[in-house]
Amino acid sequence: MKSVKVNQNNLNDYSDIWVIGELNDGKIHPVTVELIGKGKELINNLTGKKLNVIIIGYGVQNSAEKLLHYGVDKVLYVEHNLLKSFNTDYYVKAITDLIEDRKPEIVMMGSTYTMKDIGPRIAARLGTGLISDCTELEIDSSDGKLIQTKVSFGGNLLSSAICPNNRPQMVTVKPGVMNKAERSEEASGKIELVIPKLSENDTRLNLILKEVLEKKQVNLDKAKIVVSGGRGLKEAAGFDLIRELAEVLNGEVGASRVPIEAGWIDSSHQVGQTGVTVKPDLYIACGISGAIQHQAGMYQSKYIVAINKDPNAPIFKICDYGIVGDLYEVIPQLIESIKEKRMF
Ligand SMILES: Cc1cc2nc3c(=O)[nH]c(=O)nc-3n(C[C@H](O)[C@H](O)[C@H](O)COP(=O)(O)OP(=O)(O)OC[C@H]3O[C@@H](n4cnc5c(N)ncnc54)[C@H](O)[C@@H]3O)c2cc1C
Repeated sequence: MKSVKVNQNNLNDYSDIWVIGELNDGKIHPVTVELIGKGKELINNLTGKKLNVIIIGYGVQNSAEKLLHYGVDKVLYVEHNLLKSFNTDYYVKAITDLIEDRKPEIVMMGSTYTMKDIGPRIAARLGTGLISDCTELEIDSSDGKLIQTKVSFGGNLLSSAICPNNRPQMVTVKPGVMNKAERSEEASGKIELVIPKLSENDTRLNLILKEVLEKKQVNLDKAKIVVSGGRGLKEAAGFDLIRELAEVLNGEVGASRVPIEAGWIDSSHQVGQTGVTVKPDLYIACGISGAIQHQAGMYQSKYIVAINKDPNAPIFKICDYGIVGDLYEVIPQLIESIKEKRMF
């Protein structure tokens, strides 16, 4: 496959902030709206730049129109019948060509499976840098460069980077970290159809079969209440208790990384640096010590309750309410008292 490098000589040729939006079965992925929220904040510190969203697929005009309600300047919708289903090669080529043509200064993508697949390939073709899994982005007021911050060294450091000599400045951002842009009843901005130059020779992939795994949808990032279990559960069956508590509270089930690695629960439940970032009203950590990598994904919760038999567990330093005790004694009592209260 041909590798392309843009002329990086004149940084002044590059302008505007782009969000590469993501659609799942026609639905706008929440991280797209979060990135628009961040983009609006960044644009306030950049004079004369515009905030554009790019979406890609086939028959996506309707989604483009919906995105105009979030106050962006323009939505470019890239359509081609070869883009009907996700194909790394086609998506990479279509977006790379568009970036080369329009020259955005900043390109933001969600840290999702799709964007993590295509983002680094696009950056490599453009000969620019990409910082993945950013948790904070800001504009340096002295020179207008994007300061890209992420958790590093196993969660022990926050490191910030800039991309001084190449454009665009590319980042992926973890879902659930940035605040969503507010939807307005009025749509502003414009939509523009882009038809990419694609042919079947542009891919090395041949889609033989598409199989959707039967999996219960885990909506951790949107949940108001999350009940998480850790190593303290001791076995997979311990999650029955966590599920029961989550159910009476109408919440979702989360987990630390230990139960995921032990195969007690699916990885889609993992909260933390390498899992999902959650910001619920209530987060209940059961048998979780509170390692920094776990905290990275839940410290923004409004109220944190910890149940742990070790009074010195680090989780007690960040929780609002702590219960020192055996979770197998505490949780059944909690469930009972919640059920009793519901009866009145
Ligand atoms: C690069 C990197 C990325 C990582 N990413 C993540 C991530 O995204 N998410 C994540 O969670 N971890 C992540 N980790 C792992 C992390 O460092 C910890 O190892 C992990 O979070 C510990 O999980 P835990 O709290 O369940 O287990 P432990 O630290 O072993 O804690 C178990 C706790 O259960 C308590 N306990 C035991 N029995 C009971 C009982 N009967 N009742 C009540 N309490 C009890 C113990 O007192 C203890 O505090 C990452 C690590 C690295 C290096």
